[in-house]
Amino acid sequence: MITNAVIAAGGFGTRIRSVTGDSLPKALLPVAGEPIVFRQLRLLKRYGVEHVVVLAGHLADTLRASVEPEAKHLGLALEFVVEATPLGTGGGLHALRDCFGKDHFLFLCGDIALDMDLERLVDEHMESAAAATIVAHPNDHPHDSDLIATEEDGRVIAIMPRGLRPPGFYRNLVFGSVYCLSPRVFDYVRPNEKQDLNNDIFPRMICAGDRVCAYNTPEYLRDVGTAERLTMVEKDIASGYMESLHYSRKRPAVFFDRDGVLNVELGGRGITHIDELELIPGAAGAVRAVNNAGMLAVVITNQSQVAKGFITPKYLERIFAKLETLLGEEGAKLDRIYYCPHHPEQGFPGEVPELKIACACRKPKPGMLLRAARELPIDLPNSCFIGDTQRDVVAAHRAGVAAYGVRTGKACRDCTGGIQPVLMFNDVREAALFAVRNLPEAEFCVDEINQRMGATQQRPLTVAICGPQAAGKTTLAHGIARALRKRGVLVNHICADDLRRYHGGEGAVVADVDAYQALFESFAQGEPHATTADGRPVEADAAVNVFEGIFACVPELRPNIDYAIYVDAHTFVLEDRLAMIGHWMGMRLNDVEDLLNKARAGEWAAARQQIDFADATVRISQLVSAIE
Ligand SMILES: [Mg+2]
Ligand SMILES: [Zn+2]
Repeated sequence: MITNAVIAAGGFGTRIRSVTGDSLPKALLPVAGEPIVFRQLRLLKRYGVEHVVVLAGHLADTLRASVEPEAKHLGLALEFVVEATPLGTGGGLHALRDCFGKDHFLFLCGDIALDMDLERLVDEHMESAAAATIVAHPNDHPHDSDLIATEEDGRVIAIMPRGLRPPGFYRNLVFGSVYCLSPRVFDYVRPNEKQDLNNDIFPRMICAGDRVCAYNTPEYLRDVGTAERLTMVEKDIASGYMESLHYSRKRPAVFFDRDGVLNVELGGRGITHIDELELIPGAAGAVRAVNNAGMLAVVITNQSQVAKGFITPKYLERIFAKLETLLGEEGAKLDRIYYCPHHPEQGFPGEVPELKIACACRKPKPGMLLRAARELPIDLPNSCFIGDTQRDVVAAHRAGVAAYGVRTGKACRDCTGGIQPVLMFNDVREAALFAVRNLPEAEFCVDEINQRMGATQQRPLTVAICGPQAAGKTTLAHGIARALRKRGVLVNHICADDLRRYHGGEGAVVADVDAYQALFESFAQGEPHATTADGRPVEADAAVNVFEGIFACVPELRPNIDYAIYVDAHTFVLEDRLAMIGHWMGMRLNDVEDLLNKARAGEWAAARQQIDFADATVRISQLVSAIE
């Protein structure tokens, strides 16, 4: 628990003069109708701060006249320290060396709009025994920001100011302008000298071997230093975006595998030289889409090259720096990178024996996903994992996360034995865009499903989705399940594509009605006879069961179905998509043609007869392979 705080409000605010004019101190800048410093005082009060020192300079009297009544109203003890000449964020500290005794204190720059869990920050600061903890985060313009370099445990090893660092690749970690400081920090402040916390005080502490740590948070911290940023912050407050990033609010994550998903898969030993890392086209756009949607972007990667002795952890760090630099140049940021350095089999020359273990993090184990969910505010059931191998898919399933496959890298060709991604995409960009957008057709169906749920107390509701192969049934079924889950509804997504029988001549096909009925019935009774299509454990008391199958809505089955949907598509679309799937599966041209002929001869026509028995006909306008 920390009860003391400093707000640095002495700056001139030259860049925001167009808004504040010459008579308004920067800290009184109205943000969404309220001075920014009032918002900070309220946040501090919420987390148990009792005593606030305002470091003032420019227009101190105006500032004091406004802040004093507000602090009184909030029950905060307030002190004003006025600088005759501005000494910077560090120099001003000298005057406060006797303010807090031996207590630690929070330090906020007066032009930061923020909403964050300060208790969590303070806990971590105390636990790490750091002399100073810097609140930090990745941003969308790291190339022109001051950067922080850390060890894996968060200890800061270097500060690299923009303009003063050599060109190269750096991790994306920038200052959030909020700090947790111990009284040791005063040992590094020189009297009557202009100094900066970030660029003078912390480097001195690091040089002296004192412990400085970074607290990397995905919460909202943004300065209102320019009129443009002020507008953005006001929008983020009005829309509830700022609040939605608070640690207490879990949000969906998009997990990315690295090799073959974000960067080109090399095969063999994988990437062991920094020059070998090359982004897959669209990767930055994919990550940016996730950032903009307010979802977390997290990399989950096996890097057994470390255990095998091909690269050191330090070198891997450089490769990650290149990845983050390339993404950052296109305005994209990763909230975290988790990697497994281990490998289970021993006995290779040059290996690192202590990393040759059967760990809990190497995919297909879900360890890294579960760790991410402990360390970040992640809503796992509404998250997804974009991967290119069966290891990714299995790890996703074990963590209860939807698996989206891509046709880049290893292209999920090793996905056998019924372990499949729920949906396949051409590349990471398509997959990420699907992850962040609602599917309009699914939203329409969910409204209908909600009405039927409201009209009947009978549970569970049976939804059946039928239509020809490659029309988009799985896309719709997954879209519906995802949209229902977001609304807190328990739902099973079941694939029943196998329940058909061929009979008579070429391509003649009918539904296996008995098998369908048995399947529907088993779920209606809460004793399910199948697994889910998205790799989740079956919910025995689901409110909705969504079945998809080419013949899921034949007339004999109608009495079992509460809501029947036919997914339609033009014949040329079906032909294109089937051919593409056949090609991806490695089928020869003749075999693809056979597949198409069979469909033309019987299955498509037979499937189409269900239109008349369905409650709705849906055409997926944004076919998964054609989004944007
Ligand atoms: Mg991969
Ligand atoms: Zn591991």
